[in-house]
Amino acid sequence: MTDTAVPAVSSGAAAPVAHMKWWGWGVEGVGFHHEDKPGFAPFVLQAVGLDLATAPVATEPAFEDVSVPATRASAAFVARLAGIAGDAHVSTDDRLRVIHTYGKSLRDLVRVRAGELPRVPDVVVYPGSEEEVAGVVEAAVAEGAVIIPFGGGSNIAGSLEPHPDEARTIVSLDLGRLREVLDVDEASGLARIQAGALGPDLEAQLNARGWTIGHFPDSFTHSSIGGWVATRSSGMQSDRYGDIADIARGLRVVRPGGVLVIRPAPSASNGPSVREMVLGSEGRLGVITEVTAQVRRIAERRVIRGYFFPNWTAGLAAMQEIAESDAAPSITRISDARETGFTLATSKERHGVDRLLAEKALPGIMRGKGWTLDDICLSFIGYEGSAENVKRQRRLVEAIVRRHGGMGIGTGPGVLYDQKKFDTPYLRDFLLDRGAAGDVSEMAAPWSRLREVYDSTIAAANAAYDSLGIKGWIMCHLSHSYHSGACLYFTFAFVFGDDPVGEYDTVKRAIQQSFVDHGGSISHHHGVGVEHAPWLAQDISPEGVAVMAGLFSSADPAGMFNPRKVITS
Ligand SMILES: Cc1cc2nc3c(=O)[nH]c(=O)nc-3n(C[C@H](O)[C@H](O)[C@H](O)COP(=O)(O)OP(=O)(O)OC[C@H]3O[C@@H](n4cnc5c(N)ncnc54)[C@H](O)[C@@H]3O)c2cc1C
Repeated sequence: MTDTAVPAVSSGAAAPVAHMKWWGWGVEGVGFHHEDKPGFAPFVLQAVGLDLATAPVATEPAFEDVSVPATRASAAFVARLAGIAGDAHVSTDDRLRVIHTYGKSLRDLVRVRAGELPRVPDVVVYPGSEEEVAGVVEAAVAEGAVIIPFGGGSNIAGSLEPHPDEARTIVSLDLGRLREVLDVDEASGLARIQAGALGPDLEAQLNARGWTIGHFPDSFTHSSIGGWVATRSSGMQSDRYGDIADIARGLRVVRPGGVLVIRPAPSASNGPSVREMVLGSEGRLGVITEVTAQVRRIAERRVIRGYFFPNWTAGLAAMQEIAESDAAPSITRISDARETGFTLATSKERHGVDRLLAEKALPGIMRGKGWTLDDICLSFIGYEGSAENVKRQRRLVEAIVRRHGGMGIGTGPGVLYDQKKFDTPYLRDFLLDRGAAGDVSEMAAPWSRLREVYDSTIAAANAAYDSLGIKGWIMCHLSHSYHSGACLYFTFAFVFGDDPVGEYDTVKRAIQQSFVDHGGSISHHHGVGVEHAPWLAQDISPEGVAVMAGLFSSADPAGMFNPRKVITS
């Protein structure tokens, strides 16, 4: 994949940072294809009633058709920003301002494709140092402007969009030029990383020195470490490496008049954790310029193995027992039967022995065990560490798998999953082009309530589809296990009618309400933004919201940093 060229900035020079498509996920020229996946079209037809053979395909939106509100930034302010960051790093270009308006949720993509842009940032600035960030912040204070920090633009909670009624000048402060791993403290396993570094960039720099951050969200390719911290992100190997809340030990946050510095202690008893206040702050407390991350030596061995379980109940019980046991895998993930069907349907056409195994031997074994394809659940379990440790972990896990009636299917599916996971995000644009909407909702809950959340959420989504009179789809996997519970991650899709966002809202609302009604959090790793804010008080109590509101208003009395996110009033 090559990153898309970006349009000229104010000075006429190319922008210094590569961006995703203005209308969709990822880079130009890359998309989802199903021609080599024979099971995909029949699956989509059965799941949401969409016939891929006959569905009209939307043409790629043309930027020339979009009407972008004119910038409200004064020439003097733009000149002042250019004096700080350099003329080539400040832009009022329409396309760049649109790229910085939204994240990549279904709601974002529908609106941007429709040219629905009630308010866009007035100016985009790409500072090249922490001093320049501080300069931009001071200039914004003097101007009475708003700053919205921008990492990769991959969030799906509405964490970036300016409020439509915002009358002040809006600066999108893009951290993309701050992308260096500055230093690795080898004795402590701590790396100082500039906040704008995207996943592949920082991981390559760490790998070159023999280290890894171990944080691999599915959006890894296009999200930044500053964004991970600001949204409390979680990556696929979190069972071993922790969530970003564990990984980010030290922080530097530029604020008006100074830099908030959290030193990277492994743990600290120094009052309510300011580090934790910055985690998940979605730009409201200032601009994160640097993260000191806990990093690990690249493991000698890294293996992902596939397992089948006879059904969801057995699979869930096995994941819980693994979390309680001495085993410490890097990944524990299990798909429900629907998601298992989806995964099998998106597999590439098989050939030779592989085909014989998949189409003849495996179904034969399953029949012999009395399993049905409608119930089986596919699980991926990851092991990392020394060869000896991987062996030991596998032994411990596989004893549990067997106790719950599961069966190993080798490393093949794991390798495939590892390769595919960063490409799957392109699927949403593919569906949108053909009149279908797809998005996700996820939460964490205690083990004792996970099944209840699962059953209620599936029922709530189906009731929402019924209320809309449409055939919809919902599937789920469990990932990110903890001692006391785990994350359930739901994916839903449907063919939309005249009001895609309204119909999406109906389904999304039903799912989120089910989460809080049954003991789950409003999100495990996507943050709050504006999308999840309506349920915040039900999650953390009205008193909790009041404490958070006090934090935001005292730390930012002018409301200049990404206002009305997390708490929207
Ligand atoms: C297809 C897809 C898959 C995804 N998979 C995962 C996943 O597996 N795990 C996961 O956790 N998330 C996932 N996400 C969500 C998203 O990638 C995360 O929320 C990510 O952490 C956002 O990082 P970003 O750099 O793109 O931030 P942005 O979208 O640019 O910004 C998000 C918020 O953080 C603020 N912010 C960004 N940088 C800074 C900074 N330096 N200082 C202060 N505030 C800042 C912004 O103002 C905004 O409020 C996925 C999203 C998509 C579209």
